[in-house]
Amino acid sequence: MNGLVYDIHRFSLHDGPGIRTTIFLKGCPLDCLWCHNPEAKSFEPQLSFNSNLCTLCGNCEKSCPNNVHQIIDGKHIINFDLCRTSEECVENCPAGALSIIGYSESVEEIMETVNKDRKYFENSGGGLTISGGEPMAQFDFTFEILKRAKESGIHTAIETCGQSTEQRFMKVLPYVDLFLFDYKETDPENHKNYTGVSNKQILKNLELILENGASVILRCPLIPGFNDNEKHFRGIAGLQKKFPSIKLIEIMAYHNTGRDKAEKIGLVNPLKDLSSVSESEKKMWINSLTRLGCTNVTFG
Ligand code: SF4
Ligand code: SF4
Repeated sequence: MNGLVYDIHRFSLHDGPGIRTTIFLKGCPLDCLWCHNPEAKSFEPQLSFNSNLCTLCGNCEKSCPNNVHQIIDGKHIINFDLCRTSEECVENCPAGALSIIGYSESVEEIMETVNKDRKYFENSGGGLTISGGEPMAQFDFTFEILKRAKESGIHTAIETCGQSTEQRFMKVLPYVDLFLFDYKETDPENHKNYTGVSNKQILKNLELILENGASVILRCPLIPGFNDNEKHFRGIAGLQKKFPSIKLIEIMAYHNTGRDKAEKIGLVNPLKDLSSVSESEKKMWINSLTRLGCTNVTFG
């Protein structure tokens, strides 16, 4: 069985406990305004262009069968909609300015990579993390990897936005040691405006897995001017109160280090001008959450 992967990070320290191998899958059912990985949203491979590397040599214009590239008046213009990811331009670019994001990998290939790091997992308390995109969206592939890893004694985690069916969450539950579960916004309407979907199903799934003994770290992206408000902070505190088994509240403070990523794949970043969160803002957030009763809050 194959899945569409866009990256694999070995020796990762940010995607769960210990040293981990993180598999990034392509495709997500949400469309968050603040997405840090816009290249992960589409379920299809995509052309990516790094204008800083381009020397305007024109090879891509000559080699592309679909007229995607044009060099006009010293500018490289790309019609991303015409691209069929056939890769001729990538192969003929001498500067390495072009690439295709997303490639097919089998479960066996993934497990071969993961198994290379087994001794690091054992020494550090680490393991395998499946991230994305949304791992639950390529469900059969994700399920098979988690099952094989878990059955061979590897610690397993998934980073999820929570948007999937209850049946799928229940099926995957025995094979997931840790859920890194996003909680993005308390108000359902705002959630829809910011991410494209309501949070109703997401909350149902969160409650379901917690009631069935899942180990969960709640990951809360906080975006200034969008969800850094009292109502949402109360929502986070309320969830922790209702489910004391939530291991940790991890605040993911907005940062704009990847703000040019969207342009590379022909998209627009709606928050391009939003600055990263300052240290004083972070302190204020922690104070507010603590005042509302949150314990065990940290920054991810
Ligand atoms: S990947 Fe293929 S279709 Fe897309 S721009 Fe390059 S040559 Fe053209
Ligand atoms: S082949 Fe590469 S360096 Fe040449 S114009 Fe195209 S993207 Fe730029």
